[in-house]
Parts: sequence; structure tokens; C-alpha cells
Amino acid sequence: MINRRSFVGTLGSASLAALWPLSASSATVGRVVVVGGGMAGAAVAKYLRMWSGNAVAVTLVEQESRYTSNIMSNLVVTSQMSMSSLYFGYGTLVKKYGIKQVTGRVVGIEPGGLGGTWKVTISTGAGLSTEFCERVVLAPGVQFDAVPETGNPAVPATILHAWQAGPQTEQLRQQLAAMKPGQTFVMTIPPKPYRCPPGPYERACVVADYLKRNKPGSKVLVFDANSGITAEAENFGYAFNTLYGSGILEYHPSMRVASVDSAMRTVTLLDSGNIPYTVKADVLNVIPPHRAGAIVQTAGLANATTVPFAAVDVRSFESTQTPGIHVIGDSSKTTLPKAGHVGNQGGKICADAIIKAFNFQAPDPAPTANSACFSPVSSTLASWLTAVYQYDPVTGTMVIRDQVTGSTAATEAKSPSTDNFGKMGTWYKTLMSDTFA
Ligand SMILES: Cc1cc2nc3c(=O)[nH]c(=O)nc-3n(C[C@H](O)[C@H](O)[C@H](O)COP(=O)(O)OP(=O)(O)OC[C@H]3O[C@@H](n4cnc5c(N)ncnc54)[C@H](O)[C@@H]3O)c2cc1C
Repeated sequence: MINRRSFVGTLGSASLAALWPLSASSATVGRVVVVGGGMAGAAVAKYLRMWSGNAVAVTLVEQESRYTSNIMSNLVVTSQMSMSSLYFGYGTLVKKYGIKQVTGRVVGIEPGGLGGTWKVTISTGAGLSTEFCERVVLAPGVQFDAVPETGNPAVPATILHAWQAGPQTEQLRQQLAAMKPGQTFVMTIPPKPYRCPPGPYERACVVADYLKRNKPGSKVLVFDANSGITAEAENFGYAFNTLYGSGILEYHPSMRVASVDSAMRTVTLLDSGNIPYTVKADVLNVIPPHRAGAIVQTAGLANATTVPFAAVDVRSFESTQTPGIHVIGDSSKTTLPKAGHVGNQGGKICADAIIKAFNFQAPDPAPTANSACFSPVSSTLASWLTAVYQYDPVTGTMVIRDQVTGSTAATEAKSPSTDNFGKMGTWYKTLMSDTFA
């Protein structure tokens, strides 16, 4: 049974290729190049090696020298955790699993001629290099749409999203720490689908908690393009109204960003009747709408009809447009939430399907996946959200269907607690070591 207790300690997917024995001397059955060493890419690389008994040769290409985790990065913004706690290297994947790791940016994917099915071109500090393979897995995360700027374009941009952990996380931390009592932190939430459905509400809460403790009289204004809280509505609603109800946090749904003026630190929003409303901030945190990572766009694979992401067959995460190329993690368009835990699960389903394909077998016809997410709502309290997904052959999508409990909806914690805050640490360590170690 997958319940709260078991998913904290184990990250198994029912789509396990446990039938392929581990062996150091297996002959190579195929080559895979994985683009992007984040939550989805690192997981697929590791499980391709492990579950194939090293029979699949894997090259993992990542543009950064190490991964910086988005998960937990809201607690870095509030100075509760350090930047270094977000860093994960690739050494174990290389040494323990025999993955070839290349530091560079993939700039092209084209038919490989005599070298293999695909030729992947990588820009490294030393110039261009190439890798040949039979299958490509794209896991480049997301890129962010530009927000229209109405101010002087010569003014250096100080409006951050900090929605891709890295330098912006540290810069937003500094902006928050520099706020004076009585000042205003304004944040905006993009329309769905965006990465980490609970994440913006989590940030609003931990920033409100920080201001309550450190900057008396300050407040957080949250403008949400969606018509209401998109995840963990009970617990975030409780936090907004009770923990931060006395004028510390204001939540405004159905307000979309029209433009920002970086110099003035103002944002102009449109309500559901398109009436403009301009707000001035001391710190302005605008999270723009997302689209699939640039290489997915370049390769022409962002072919979903309603959103700029890649349509895939969720039994294998193979592109519906280009056979032999798989798109996993936040770049894919599925009914699964865009989340690191889910990226890890999708990586496993994809690894299983690729190993089966190299062995002339069809993908698992009924994969399952679980999604779990802990959300801090203060420096000591956290909530959680979980769901079990099952492939539905009628719609060809993953639907919430927990065969043990019968649940068809995501479940959230009864209330935020310190106990959940402690378990959050265990969950984070388990997930990250399942992905990178
Ligand atoms: C503040 C915040 C909090 C979050 N909290 C949670 C949480 O509690 N739980 C949860 O499950 N999820 C959480 N998420 C969501 C989670 O971080 C993402 O869903 C997850 O990281 C997606 O994984 P990915 O592999 O698709 O992308 P990423 O993890 O972003 O990895 C993509 C990688 O690809 C690399 N890359 C991109 N293009 C190229 C290229 N052309 N060549 C080489 N490398 C390339 C990038 O450098 C990057 O390392 C949170 C997100 C945010 C922003």
C-alpha cells in the first residue's frame, strides 16, 4: 500500500523493469543520450543503467557543473537553509552506475546517418562535440516567457522570478533580507500549467512568516492568474486566513500580469474584466508563464495543442511527433503535475520503456506513478499533498486512481504541523538520493 508512511521512505514506481538482472558484463543493447541532469534526467539516466544491468550505454549532458534543486529553495529565500544544501553533483552517477557525463549545452538533434539513429550536438567550453545514439531523452525543464516591460529598458532588471533555483534564489534572498519594516513584497502566480502547483503559495507563506518575525508591519500581496488556490487549498487557505490573516498577507485571485516597470518596481495586472490595476512593490517577485525547455522548442517537439509543451505517450514518454525521442519532466505535456517527485517517477517509466524497446518489447500497458510534495507554510510547520496515478487506456492519460484506497483525488494533510516539517526533511533526502545517488 502506498501511503504517507511508505512514500517517505520508498520511491518505487509500479512500472519497474525489475526483470533485467544487474550485471557488469552485459553487452550493449543500445545507446541513449539524456539532455538535462535535473530531477527527471538524472533519474532516467540512473535507472536506464541499473535496470538494464548496464546493457544500455547512457550519456548525460547537463549545461551546469552541478544541479541546483528548486525543491526547498523557498527556504533559502527566507535564509532558513543555505544555497549549498540545494547542490547535487553527478559524481555518484558516473562512478556507481557508469554513466558518461558531459558538461555542455545541447544545441541540436538531427538524424545520425551511419553513426546511429540520432546525432546530438553539444556546445562545451572547448567548442562543439557530438554524441550518437539510438534514443534521445529530453529533460531540459522549463523556460520562462518574457514579461512586457513598460519602463526604461536601459535600467538593469531587478524583477526576479527565482523559479529556477540558482543565482536568482540568492538575489531574491538578499532583496527580502534588505526589506525594511512596513514594506511590501508583491508576488504574482502564472496561469496553470506551471512547475510545482503548491510552490507559489508555499513561497507566499514562508515569506509572510519571515516578515512577521523580522520586519514588523510588512506585508505580502499575492496576485494569482488562476481563479483560486490551485493545490492544497485547505491548508494554504488556513495559512492565509489564520496564520497571516491579520493584514500580513492578501490573496487576490484572477489577476493576470500585463506588464512590469522595473525602474518603478510596479506591476500592472488585469482582473477578469480586463480592468487594469497597478501596484507598487518594495520587492517584486513575478513568476512568468512557462513553456518547454528551449531544446524542445528548437527540435519542434512542443506540439501539444493547448499549451507550449511536448505531447507524449505516457506509457513511454515518447514524443507523439518524433519516434525515438522521449520528453520527460516539466517539458512534457501530461495530466501529471509538473513536480520533481513526478519527474523522478516519469524518468523511471521512460527508462523501463526504453529498455523494453531495446529488447523488442512493448512498454508496460498500465504504468503507475505517485506524486508527493511537502510544503512548508512557516519556519516550523508544513503540509503535504499526495496522489497515486494509473494509466487509463480509454483516455490515454494518467488519472488519479489509488487501487488500495479507491481514492480518485489528491489527498492533502489534515493540517500543517511540526511533525510534517520533520518528515519533509526525510522525504527530500530520500527523493534526492533516489535521483542522484
Ligand atoms: C520554488 C520551487 C519549489 C519546488 N518544490 C517542489 C517540491 O516540494 N516537490 C516537487 O516534487 N517539486 C517541486 N518543485 C518543482 C520541481 O523543481 C520541478 O518540477 C522539477 O525540477 C522538474 O524537473 P526537470 O528535470 O523537468 O527540470 P529541472 O529539474 O529544471 O532540470 C532541467 C535541467 O536541464 C538542464 N538543461 C536545460 N537545457 C539544457 C540543454 N540544452 N543542454 C543541457 N542541459 C540543459 C538545466 O540546466 C537543468 O539542470 C519546485 C519548484 C520550484 C520553482
